[in-house]
Amino acid sequence: DLPVVVDVPTADDMQRLGRRLARLLRKGDVIVASGDLGAGKTTLTQGIGAGLDVEGPVISPTFVLSRVHPARGDGPALVHVDAYRLGGSLELADIDLDASLADSVTLIEWGHGLAEWLADDRLEIDIVRGVDSDQRTVYLTGFGPRWAGALDALRE
Ligand code: ADP
Ligand code: MG
Repeated sequence: DLPVVVDVPTADDMQRLGRRLARLLRKGDVIVASGDLGAGKTTLTQGIGAGLDVEGPVISPTFVLSRVHPARGDGPALVHVDAYRLGGSLELADIDLDASLADSVTLIEWGHGLAEWLADDRLEIDIVRGVDSDQRTVYLTGFGPRWAGALDALRE
């Protein structure tokens, strides 16, 4: 699929995008969010957490690799992984994801570059900062049958 490109002027708008995206998410989904430190990966994840109505707070998991946010209702839990500092050499086996992956939405904060080995069905999100403003440009690309046409609701 062609990427969905969204202009995101403020941090509030980034949270709003996360809440809109959350409506499209289901158990078993894997999202890889890439971008520089401070790009807005965690801010987007906070919006997703709010939209999924999971227990918070969603914060940067600085001292732990991943954090599980249980759902308040029947929806998926959110597994939030921060692999940013680990660079590109990480193997999936290094991520201590528990067996409940299939019951969760898993969002992995990543540095730049693709992580094809993660899952054939995955949503890749790249966040690019504006040069001298708060503006961010968010590129969302779905891979695999799960995501075929799934992002159309986000196209303006
Ligand atoms: P990352 O997880 O990518 O390192 P964070 O989400 O932790 O980034 O930090 C992004 C910072 O940038 C936050 O302090 C947020 O308030 C600020 N910010 C300013 N403008 C935006 C924007 N348009 N989108 C996202 N965050 C923004
Ligand atoms: Mg972060």
